[in-house]
Amino acid sequence: MAPDGKLVLDLTDSLTVTAVTADSADGWAVPFTHGGDRLVIDRWGPVGDSVIVQITYGGRAPDALAIQDNDYGQRVAFADDWPNRAHFWLPVEDHPSDKATVHWTIDVPAGWRAIANGRFVDTLRLASGRLRWQYDEARRIPAYTFVVGAGRLAVTPLVTAAGIPQSIWTFPADSAFAMDGPFRRVNAIVDTLSAYIGPFPYAKLAHVESSTRFGGMENASAIFYTEHGYTSRRMRESVVAHETAHQWFGDAVTERDWHHLWLSEGFATYFAALFRELTGDSAGFRESMADARTSYFASPVVSRPVLDFAETSYMALLNENNYEKGSWILHMLRGRIGDRAFHQGIRDYYATYRDSTALSEDLRAVMEHASGQDLGWFFAQWLTQPGYPKLEVTVARAREPGAPALVTLRQVQPEAWGTYRLPVRVDAVNSRTGRRTSATIEMTGRAATGQLTLPDGADRIDVDPANALLLTADGSFAGR
Ligand SMILES: [Zn+2]
Repeated sequence: MAPDGKLVLDLTDSLTVTAVTADSADGWAVPFTHGGDRLVIDRWGPVGDSVIVQITYGGRAPDALAIQDNDYGQRVAFADDWPNRAHFWLPVEDHPSDKATVHWTIDVPAGWRAIANGRFVDTLRLASGRLRWQYDEARRIPAYTFVVGAGRLAVTPLVTAAGIPQSIWTFPADSAFAMDGPFRRVNAIVDTLSAYIGPFPYAKLAHVESSTRFGGMENASAIFYTEHGYTSRRMRESVVAHETAHQWFGDAVTERDWHHLWLSEGFATYFAALFRELTGDSAGFRESMADARTSYFASPVVSRPVLDFAETSYMALLNENNYEKGSWILHMLRGRIGDRAFHQGIRDYYATYRDSTALSEDLRAVMEHASGQDLGWFFAQWLTQPGYPKLEVTVARAREPGAPALVTLRQVQPEAWGTYRLPVRVDAVNSRTGRRTSATIEMTGRAATGQLTLPDGADRIDVDPANALLLTADGSFAGR
C-alpha cells in the first residue's frame, strides 16, 4: 500500500486488465489505472486496512511464463521469474523485500500434471474434461519464486527419514536417470541440511524437470531444473544440493535488496559444499571450496565488491562475487569464530529471519551475538572491498643455531583493493621428512612480522596450508 492509500502492483502493460473488484468477482468495481507496467488501484478504505481485491486480466505473457515444446517435442508450460519478471504474468510487488503467501488454481488439459508452490490441495475434473490442480503456500515467499509448471510429467514420490514429503517430476523418458543419478541422495540432502540449519521451511519439496533459462531455479518448495541437464545426462547432485539449500536461504530467509544477493547465492553455494562435509566427505568439501576459489580468482568481478551497488543489471549479479566469494566469506567466518559459534549463528539467523527478509548487517548482528566478537571489520572488508589479499611471505633464518626465524608478511594486492585484517598461518617444512612447524601471525596492516622455529632441514614455506583464507600467497626463505 502506497502512502496515499493506493495499492500499487507491478504488471506488464502487455496484459489487459478488464476489472478490479473488491472482495470477490461479485464485489463492487474499484477504480484503477494501468500503465508504465504498474497497476494502481484507488483507495476505498483507511490506510493500513487489509483489503481483498480481485483483478481480472488476460492476454499472452510476453516473458516469464513460457508455453512451448520441450526437448521431446511435447507441449509444456513453465514459469521462470528471476529476478523481477513475475510481473510479466502476475500482478505482484515484484521485489524481494515484499513477500507473500499464494494459492494456485491451475486448469490444464486432460493427462497433464501441474506443480506449483505450496501444499498440494486437490485435483478436480472439470465438465470440459480439463483438470483443475490446486496448491496453497501458507508461508510468505518472494515473488521471484512464484511458479507454476505443467505438462505430461512423471512423478516419483519420496519421503525423507525425518518425514518431509518430496517428489521428483520429470519428462517420462528421464525418470530413471533422475532417480539413479542426481536425485539419488535427495532425501539425505533435505534431512542433513534440516538437522544443521533448522526445520525444512515448507510443506513439501518438488524437484521439477523444466524449461528454465537457469541451470536450476530455487522456486520455493518447487525447484525447477533445466531439462538439458537431464536429456544430456550431465546433471550432477551439486545443483540439487545448491537449489535445495536455497529453500532455507533465499526462499525462507530472503535478501531484502538485490545487492545483498550473496545472502542467497553464497549461502546456497556454501551449504551445497557443506552437505558433503556433513555426510563424511571432507575431501569433497575441500574440493568444492578449492573449485570456488579458482572460479573466483579467474573472474573479472574480482575488481568489484560483493555489495556492488553500482551494478544495475540484476542478471549481472549472478557472478562469482555472490556465489563463490560469498561461500568463501561464510567459510572464513566459520574459521574466524569457530564451528560452534558459526553453527549457532546459522541456526539463530534462520530462526530469526525465516519467512522474512534480511540484509548483510542482520547476519552480522546475529553472528556477533553468537560469537561474542565484533565482526564489523570482517564483514566490511570482505563485502565492501574489491579483490582479495595477495601475500608475500619471507622467512629469514636466525644466525644463532636454534633461535627462531623471522617471518615477514606483506600484502601486495593493488591499493584499490584495500588492506585486509588476517590471521595467517605460516608453516616451515622439511620436504624430505614431512616434518613441519607452524606459526599464526595476525596481520592488521600491509606488513607484519612474527617468529617461527624451523624444523631441521626446513626447505619450504607453506602459507595458509589448510586453505582457510581466500588469498594467494608466495612463501620463501629470505636470501634465495
Ligand atoms: Zn543459486
